[in-house]
Amino acid sequence: MIPFLDLNQINEPHLEAIEQASLRVLRSGWYILGNELKTFETSFANYCESDHCVGVANGLDAITLILKAFDFPVGSEIIVPANTYIASVLPVSYLHLTPVLVEPDNKTMLLDPELIESRITDKTKAIITVDLYGRSCEMDQIMEIAGRHNLKVITDAAQAHGAVYKNRKIGSLAHATAFSFYPTKNLGALGDAGAVTTSDPELAEKIAYLRNYGSKVRYKNDYQGVNSRLDEIQAAILSIKLPFLDSDNQRRKEIAQRYLNEIKVKNLLLPPGDRPEEDAWHIFVVRHPERQKLVDHLDSMGIQTNVHYPVPVHKQLAYKHLANLSLPITEQIHNEVLSLPLHPMLTENEVSQIIEALNNFDL
Ligand SMILES: *Cc1c(COP(=O)(O)O)cnc(C)c1O
Repeated sequence: MIPFLDLNQINEPHLEAIEQASLRVLRSGWYILGNELKTFETSFANYCESDHCVGVANGLDAITLILKAFDFPVGSEIIVPANTYIASVLPVSYLHLTPVLVEPDNKTMLLDPELIESRITDKTKAIITVDLYGRSCEMDQIMEIAGRHNLKVITDAAQAHGAVYKNRKIGSLAHATAFSFYPTKNLGALGDAGAVTTSDPELAEKIAYLRNYGSKVRYKNDYQGVNSRLDEIQAAILSIKLPFLDSDNQRRKEIAQRYLNEIKVKNLLLPPGDRPEEDAWHIFVVRHPERQKLVDHLDSMGIQTNVHYPVPVHKQLAYKHLANLSLPITEQIHNEVLSLPLHPMLTENEVSQIIEALNNFDL
């Protein structure tokens, strides 16, 4: 059986270092907003080629706090990709802003820059780009449109740690970028964690206050903040794993390249392989019109797959007021996508087994 992802396997190489770091924090008597967090924030900002990093409790909060810091008036419109995980959209609704769902490019499955401009109104304040599956959106075009309309660009990079766009690291391109360190991400904690990167010092400072009750000085609250802090143990663990992110991503690229070269199945659509070196390959998403049959076939061959995601945001009960939107590309993607196992601990032999099982699919 080849599991889709086994976190024991992912964290095994770091176990001893993690045990030592956890003990160090345990014995330090300082658990929240301390030196472990400062150290990680500095290294992650450097890694992302960004000036500032603010650790927060999770990826959802990272997006929420960026939007909150921009302080857009209630009812402002925020452009969001229709093909995304619900966490990209929820922060918009929480803050009583209006999500404007835009269809993806059918090939990349990411926000289509060509469709953005016609959706901009005088209420539009920001564009959220989501680097889904580990691939950057078309940032040159998107930043240019945003610049002309005076919009903020926020990137949800929860799936794109280490991805690159035209020689620039994800985390340095948008006005602010949100990361999640949920355990399954390319850089994962052993619990919940997240971060914001930005090169805007005032925004970074405001988010640092907002995550801690809006407080600059203890018991003095300048903003109505929240409690969204990245704790010392998780920060220490992330500092241990960060130096391995590039080599992990390199392994992901090698596997993705093999999949791109060797998978040959009728009616199966592979992800775009036009810039394999830039993508972080968080997941390898193929498309097939008979997805369930392919899932069953792979399952019978002992290969576990996953669907990211089975139901689009606008078809979720939580967003029933959006159910009538017509988003055919997004809906078709949700009916066809299937994620193959792809993680740094996968062996060449396992990759070969997966490719062979796929190539034996005969419908
Ligand atoms: C994982 C994920 C998030 C949310 O991260 P959490 O840390 O679970 O809150 C947001 N957006 C995308 C695209 C994700 O994959």
